[in-house]
Amino acid sequence: MLLTILGGCGAWPAAGQACSGYLVEHDGFRLLVDLGYATVPRLLERVSADQIDAVFVSHGHPDHCADLNPLLRARTMRDDPPAPLPVYSLPGALDAVLALDRPGVLADAYVLHEFTVGSRFDIGPFRAQTRLLPHSVPNAGIRLTAGGRVLAYAGDSGPGPDRVELARGADLLLAEATYVSQVPEGSRRYLTSARQAGRQALEAEARRLLLTHLQPGTDTSAARAAAGATYDGEIGIATPGLVFDLS
Ligand SMILES: [Zn+2]
Repeated sequence: MLLTILGGCGAWPAAGQACSGYLVEHDGFRLLVDLGYATVPRLLERVSADQIDAVFVSHGHPDHCADLNPLLRARTMRDDPPAPLPVYSLPGALDAVLALDRPGVLADAYVLHEFTVGSRFDIGPFRAQTRLLPHSVPNAGIRLTAGGRVLAYAGDSGPGPDRVELARGADLLLAEATYVSQVPEGSRRYLTSARQAGRQALEAEARRLLLTHLQPGTDTSAARAAAGATYDGEIGIATPGLVFDLS
């Protein structure tokens, strides 16, 4: 399983960066997990829009799904559009982004598969297991298994046992870490710090921790150090272009 980071900014894309977006490949199948602001230009540096086989979106915040619109445009506004793109999301999560164009413009560009949290299903060669994680809108964490390897991705979420269970024994935990050490009072149920992400990686016995969704301007060294206060495995920061081979 190959993971390529398209972006790792929380909230909005900093200069030269992009929001949450991750290309996951196995056996020639290309799955996009989230595609927030500015991820499509990073994607198109690597593959063409018609080479994407499926999309999974964790939740409906635009820093996780806004670039579904340009991806669908890039697939359909051409002479030889590819087959409709399978898109997996929670019910209603993509209503706003899919309404950006006038009705009908993108209708043939995608097939929407709305799933209920807790369900398990296959996306190409990937076994997907979803879990409802606490956020200000419904948010599905996902555990992807292929070729005997496991990638866990929490989307945005507050801490808790479900977030640990999602990542149990994962080869790589891709963990939202919006803040370094302290999550502001009003967001504590919905977002996580790098320090908490480190503790979760430790409790879950994940083999590798990749911090993502850092608020623009965050000191990445401080985030890495905060996660490393408890977790002694390999810790990285999700930045565009990074590639991880989980095999
Ligand atoms: Zn969010």
